[in-house]
Amino acid sequence: MNSAKLFVISAPSGCGKGTILEKVFAKKELFFSVSCTTREIRPGEKEGVNYHYVTRKQFEKMIDDRDFLEFARYSDEYYGSPKAPVFEHLARGTDVILEVEVEGGFQVREKFSEAVLVFILPPSMKELERRLVNRGTDKPEAIKKRLKRAGSEIRSSYRYDYVILNDDVDKAVEDLLTVMESVRAGDDRAFRFSTKCDDTIKLIEKVITNA
Ligand code: 5GP
Repeated sequence: MNSAKLFVISAPSGCGKGTILEKVFAKKELFFSVSCTTREIRPGEKEGVNYHYVTRKQFEKMIDDRDFLEFARYSDEYYGSPKAPVFEHLARGTDVILEVEVEGGFQVREKFSEAVLVFILPPSMKELERRLVNRGTDKPEAIKKRLKRAGSEIRSSYRYDYVILNDDVDKAVEDLLTVMESVRAGDDRAFRFSTKCDDTIKLIEKVITNA
C-alpha cells in the first residue's frame, strides 16, 4: 500500500519555519511543494527554489485552469500550491510538504482529508515582533499587518492536528520529525503535540496571551 503522506506546515512569518524545514529536509527524503506567488522576490531568494514568481494575470489564469490544490491572498498578494507535482510525488510514494498560511491549510484538508496539518508557534507574540523587526525585510506598516495576521493564525491553530513550539530550533526540528514519523507509523508518539492534548491547548493560550 502507498502510505505517502501530505503534511501541511503553517506558521506566521517570522516563526523560523524556513530554518526548521531546511533542517528537516537535510534529515528526511521529502518533496517540498514550491508555491506560486505574485509577491516580489526578496534578496537571497531564488526562482523555482523559494517560489515561482508569477504575474497576477498568470496567477489568475492558473486559478481558472484549476491548477491549484489551494490558494489564498496574504498581504494583498496571491499564494498558491500547484496541484500536479503534489499528486505525482504522493503517487510515487514520497511524502510531500506544503508550506502555506492557515486558510490554504484548511482548503487542503477539505479537498484531501488525509492531509496532516502542523502549526509552528513562536515563543510569544513579543518575540515574533522582535524577529520581524530584526529581519529587516518589511516596513513598519507591513510588520503591523503581519503581526495582526499572526495573532489570528495562532488562534486558528486549535483547528490544526499538531502544534509545535519553536523556542529552540533543534528541538522544534526533532519534534516535527517525531510527528511525521509517528503519523507514518500510526503510533501515539505524537500525541503530546496533538490539539487533542490539553497541554497543547494551554500552550497555544500562553502564546496568545503573552502578547
Ligand atoms: P512570505 O511572503 O513571507 O514568503 O509568505 C507569506 C505567507 O504565505 C506565509 O504564511 C506562507 O506560509 C504563505 N504561503 C506560502 N506559499 C503559500 C501557498 O502556496 N499557499 C498559501 N495559502 N499560502 C502560502
